[in-house]
Amino acid sequence: MAEKVAQHTHCQICGKTIPISENLCSDECKQKYQSMIKKRKMLMYIMYGLIFVILIMFLLPSL
Ligand SMILES: [Zn+2]
Repeated sequence: MAEKVAQHTHCQICGKTIPISENLCSDECKQKYQSMIKKRKMLMYIMYGLIFVILIMFLLPSL
């Protein structure tokens, strides 16, 4: 019995099984994924901003 296991991956949002050529199962998940990326980018910018502020706070007294 040669069982054929088709190559597959999982939707990055809901975890549904999808073909390996895809990475999201539906337009709904694509939209969710896009907004997730936007939120992540925002967080990154906030982090960089905070690091910058902390650096300045450390550097300023020694100037
Ligand atoms: Zn999905």
